[in-house]
Amino acid sequence: MHLCTRAEHDFFSFDLNMELCFNREVENTAYIALGSNLGDREMNLLRAVTEIARIPGTRVTGLSHFYETSPVGFKDQPPFNNAVLRISTGLSPGDLLLSLQRIEDEVFKRKRGVMNGPRTMDLDILLYNDLMLESENLVIPHPEMTRRRFVLQPLNDIAPDAVHPASRRNISAILASLESDESVTKI
Ligand code: ADP
Ligand code: MG
Repeated sequence: MHLCTRAEHDFFSFDLNMELCFNREVENTAYIALGSNLGDREMNLLRAVTEIARIPGTRVTGLSHFYETSPVGFKDQPPFNNAVLRISTGLSPGDLLLSLQRIEDEVFKRKRGVMNGPRTMDLDILLYNDLMLESENLVIPHPEMTRRRFVLQPLNDIAPDAVHPASRRNISAILASLESDESVTKI
């Protein structure tokens, strides 16, 4: 079952079908986390930005600094490069996920193995408007985002005032209260 609620606005349609939980008539704002720890990591991030900008009906409207970060979870792997971008899109959350997965698979030939393991490119949807959605293959806001410095730091570059719809706190406040020893260094 899809659970789909809007935190603040009631002028968007509410429906158990998540595809109706966005407005095709207006531009929707989403934040996407980019991560790479195989190959030329910085070039991979640049390529991903270009590919995302080519998704139909989608414009890149913001890009964070790039960071080198220590791996989280599965530690025995190379450091990551991470960034976050903001897009304006007419795609639904589900179609956006499909487009991002197509880039991971077809452009970056991503092989899926160890969870949190090495990857040429990981593209995660962090926020989509102020949507809260939980379906089998898509959870928004991304469930790990409030615990990960490698996500919050770059997100804070471009969206310090964006409100996380579940906690109702803004990104800069969540980042300020984060306790973690992850290394996140601007490159
Ligand atoms: P992870 O990013 O957790 O390391 P993957 O990139 O392999 O792992 O993604 C695993 C699954 O996570 C995907 O198949 C996708 O369906 C699901 N998923 C759930 N929520 C999201 C989200 N907000 N953004 C991207 N993928 C998501
Ligand atoms: Mg992912």
